[in-house]
Amino acid sequence: MVPGYDRWTKEIDTDVVIVGGGIVGCALAYELAREDVEVVLVERHDLNTQASGGNAGSLHVQIMSFQMTLEDARWQRIIDGNVRLYMAAVRTWQELAPELDVDVELHVEGGLMVAETHDQLERLELKATRERAIGLESDVLRGAELFAVAPYLSERHVIGAARCPIEGRINPALATPAIARSAERAGARILRHTAVGAISPGNRGFEVETARGRIRCKRVVNAAGCGAGEIAAMVGLHIPLAAPEVLHMNVTEPTCHFVDHLVQHAGMRLTFKQASNGSLIIGGGWDAVIDPATGLPAVTRASVQGNLWIAQRIVPELGHLRLVRTWAAANAGVSSGPILGEVSGLPGFFNAVFGDAGFTAGPICARIVADGLTGRAPSFDHASFAIERVQAGP
Ligand SMILES: Cc1cc2nc3c(=O)[nH]c(=O)nc-3n(C[C@H](O)[C@H](O)[C@H](O)COP(=O)(O)OP(=O)(O)OC[C@H]3O[C@@H](n4cnc5c(N)ncnc54)[C@H](O)[C@@H]3O)c2cc1C
Repeated sequence: MVPGYDRWTKEIDTDVVIVGGGIVGCALAYELAREDVEVVLVERHDLNTQASGGNAGSLHVQIMSFQMTLEDARWQRIIDGNVRLYMAAVRTWQELAPELDVDVELHVEGGLMVAETHDQLERLELKATRERAIGLESDVLRGAELFAVAPYLSERHVIGAARCPIEGRINPALATPAIARSAERAGARILRHTAVGAISPGNRGFEVETARGRIRCKRVVNAAGCGAGEIAAMVGLHIPLAAPEVLHMNVTEPTCHFVDHLVQHAGMRLTFKQASNGSLIIGGGWDAVIDPATGLPAVTRASVQGNLWIAQRIVPELGHLRLVRTWAAANAGVSSGPILGEVSGLPGFFNAVFGDAGFTAGPICARIVADGLTGRAPSFDHASFAIERVQAGP
């Protein structure tokens, strides 16, 4: 029996409809159902099949390397907004993981951002100083001090690294489905393979037209990831999204455990970590493409070669392992930062839209949006994520 199908009637009345069954939508369904809010989540494919199922599972907190070259005012904005959010995000995962019915392989063993040049190292020092100023534990290790904690790094190429103890990893294939199961057990209804085609004002709120019937509800949450722009447009709202980022991932065969950290590069596109089964998961923002024949994300040979070249340069041991799988997935192009909360000119319509490291931030985003829907005390000051900061409203 596929959950959701048996309980479908042609018309449903509910309080909240969530559009999107990725990490954000599923975590929000769980937050609301736990508070006894009547909620229906609607997903056009199966759950966890888009960015949330195709991501690298890194728990990011440090300012990212591509942000290190921004001018001063933008650094400050990122620190004030995103880094604080990511700090809260890791705490949220640590609270959530023990409540789930499987081990989601959450490991917070620290992250290293490696430098190969003195210029990169100087920027890491500056970054760590700024991060410490807002309460994020962060320092820079050099030479022997670094190789003592990360003996797997290449002594030929790496000269130092920024260390952030609260970074880590989690298994995306396990986490979102486990949260969805918890949501269903708490009373949420989840309708898979049910695309939302239109949303219009109704007597008591909204009428959500799906491919399989109509849902009347008081409130709607847009957690549609790359589809968020289309969902917003259904109610006359413009969300400033850039084109989706189509990204590439690699996985090696399993080997004995030798990497504890989430590793990133200060100047090149690289992230890697070792999963609980021993495989190395290698990514870092290498481009993939949309295959014109299928309309689906597809990997390119150039990204396989480039990503593995830099990974092997930083961790020579990788050269002995075989690549067993590659894949590509699309992330929402939220270039202006996360868009969270109720739209002031459109009562009852909420956004829960996150690009960047949205898997790390998924549960805290859900918590922030749930605060607004339930009227409970805010768990996080999220004024800087309101849609009104990037546009004038609907
Ligand atoms: C290759 C890759 C690697 C990444 N690595 C990391 C990482 O290591 N760490 C990290 O923190 N983040 C990472 N990210 C980012 C992260 O995966 C995303 O930001 C996050 O998963 C977004 O979650 P979401 O729930 O908003 O979106 P999604 O998971 O995309 O979910 C949105 C859902 O909405 C559904 N939907 C859309 N339109 C409709 C409609 N009309 N009707 C019904 N349903 C609809 C979609 O089918 C989809 O299932 C990565 C992303 C990619 C692509």
